[in-house]
Amino acid sequence: MSTVKDFFGSLVFDDRVMKASLSAEVYNSLKRTIDEGARLDIGVANAVADAMKEWAVQNGATHYTHWFQPLTGITAEKHDSFITPSPDGGVILEFSGKELIKGEPDASSFPSGGLRATFEARGYTAWDPTSYAFIKGKTLCIPTAFCSYGGEALDKKTPLLRSMEALNKQALRILRLFGNDKAKYVRASVGPEQEYFLITKEMYDQRPDLRFTGRTLFGAKPPKGQEMDDHYFGVIKPRVAAYMAELNQELWKLGILAKTEHNEVAPAQHELAPIYTTTNIATDHNQLTMEIMQKVAARHGLVCLLHEKPFAGVNGSGKHNNWSISTNEGANLLSPGETPYENAQFLLFLCAVIKAVDDYQDLLRISVATAGNDHRLGANEAPPAVVSVFLGDELNGILEAIEKDAEYHGVEKKKMKLGVDVLPRFLRDTTDRNRTSPFAFTGNKFEFRMLGSSNSIACANIMLNTAVAESLRIYADELEAAGDFNAALYEVIKKTIRDHKRIIFNGNGYDDAWIREATEKRGLCNYRTTPDCMPHLLDKKNVEMLTAHKVFSEAELKSRCEIMLENYCKTVVIEANTMVDMARTQIAPAVEAYAADMAKAASAKRALDASLVCGFETGLIKKLSALTDRIAAGAQDLEEAVVQLGNADDIGAESAMIRDTVLVKMSELRVACDKAETLTAKSYWPFPSYGDLLFSVK
Ligand code: ADP
Ligand code: MG
Repeated sequence: MSTVKDFFGSLVFDDRVMKASLSAEVYNSLKRTIDEGARLDIGVANAVADAMKEWAVQNGATHYTHWFQPLTGITAEKHDSFITPSPDGGVILEFSGKELIKGEPDASSFPSGGLRATFEARGYTAWDPTSYAFIKGKTLCIPTAFCSYGGEALDKKTPLLRSMEALNKQALRILRLFGNDKAKYVRASVGPEQEYFLITKEMYDQRPDLRFTGRTLFGAKPPKGQEMDDHYFGVIKPRVAAYMAELNQELWKLGILAKTEHNEVAPAQHELAPIYTTTNIATDHNQLTMEIMQKVAARHGLVCLLHEKPFAGVNGSGKHNNWSISTNEGANLLSPGETPYENAQFLLFLCAVIKAVDDYQDLLRISVATAGNDHRLGANEAPPAVVSVFLGDELNGILEAIEKDAEYHGVEKKKMKLGVDVLPRFLRDTTDRNRTSPFAFTGNKFEFRMLGSSNSIACANIMLNTAVAESLRIYADELEAAGDFNAALYEVIKKTIRDHKRIIFNGNGYDDAWIREATEKRGLCNYRTTPDCMPHLLDKKNVEMLTAHKVFSEAELKSRCEIMLENYCKTVVIEANTMVDMARTQIAPAVEAYAADMAKAASAKRALDASLVCGFETGLIKKLSALTDRIAAGAQDLEEAVVQLGNADDIGAESAMIRDTVLVKMSELRVACDKAETLTAKSYWPFPSYGDLLFSVK
């Protein structure tokens, strides 16, 4: 029997395959490109392309594609076959270096937020050699970036790679100041924990809302939801276990380090976490993971829901972005060190993150903003929309002592002088697992917990990498110019703590009192919705910072802002239209039919005995009739609210109208329909209930 070891990465053109199939010269040259970003020569590209094709064909591939991540949020691919006609009437299989490096998909159908009009109609894809090519089905997939001919990014990978470079550059400056001249590069690593729901395909097919929008737009609360907390870490049901086993196999073949899996808080909710890896690879892998989760589910007669809030009143799904920075030698810069000097370096990197999160809290909020995630943030199941940093009491105590120039008493009650003594080793173990914090230090990494389950992790990491690069740049400018490095270093750390301690919060993030304190006393941002936060992408300070590090141009930022708002509007409009349709063509007729049968029953009873009161029937008919009136009026109001959107001057105004009217009308219509569901006989209800959906998988 083959073991994981035998098939792990079997569908990946990874280092092992490269070493075996490339000449030493080509391999070394490619390695320099991968590790150090050296320029790739066309001769090398040709050799790599040829080896890649040979390997792919041997493994059953007939086509290749440049695999990329346009701004739609999913991945895109256009397949070309390897065949070229040969003079003898047959075909030969060809794949050149040029085809490997660059592709030209028709960009006109991908969102560009006005960029194409301003610049150039066509776009091209460019190979990202740092992320391995892989085989999916019969296609060799080559991870690529997607740009316009003017060089403007039309995807999520390009700015992500740029942000990694910005972070690398500034972090190396800091390491050099600490006397480290060996590190060749610094990279951010990410381990995303992915939550999802599984329901049966049979139930899914009966719900237009799930099919069109990925979430339920109606549904009364089931008698049993997640009250018992009996699902979390509970025994995995056989059908789910079979799904998870096959999912792991598929992911392992693709070299994705799927590691942990368990049930989550809500019924039918589960989580999968891979072992962390370099940011851009983690991003590619997470996109692939989401795709394969859905594919494997289909093979098991299931549907994997990746929406942030598939069910109202039940916990939604998020994605925890575990993030750290380390050198090519494997030193984690967010890990407390063994000597006071290393500790100072750790504290400086820690401060860089604290400062970055405070200065660019708006960008972090923006990076997770979608219509779906707006339902989760601040709903007492996920972090609030207010960004804050959790450090834990110990680390917090240390920072406070530094700020006040005081000696610090650790858990052992031993006094220690910072900068002289080694930081206590307890940090990792005592870091309390505060689940309510949006951005928590967990011993040697930060966990950014605001991401929605369907978000690409690229956006959050672009902002995080660049904001931290900016803190490091400011530090490096200051420290490089300082006469006395140590004195300047402590000043920088102290100043950061003094200026940015408002972002540190170690309490309960779900508490309303915290939101008041955060906004009223501490002046932190509280952008509840996508239309609230998105325009701040174009605030002067944000544009200046992101353009200074060459992560985005101003035009790219404008286009992204527009695309994100467009996505928001389109998503909600589809939901609104689906609601109107379901309310009119399914719900109202069902309630009406039930009421009519009730009326028939009452008159039949009275025909038997005219003295019968039929209080049950008449009472219910009255209630149902009032509800069908409300449903009809609610559908009408909602439809009109959608029509009104046509009057909006621009996408910003449209998104605000959606927030202020469409979403309000949607919830009014829902209340009436959900009430009707609780009064209508189940056999009349036109689609499966929450109870059916949440407990459908055995
Ligand atoms: P929990 O649910 O307890 O937070 P999990 O084990 O589900 O933890 O997930 C933790 C994630 O953090 C994993 O993806 C793991 O690989 C990742 N991780 C661990 N150490 C680091 C690190 N130094 N940098 C980035 N990610 C890390
Ligand atoms: Mg976990």
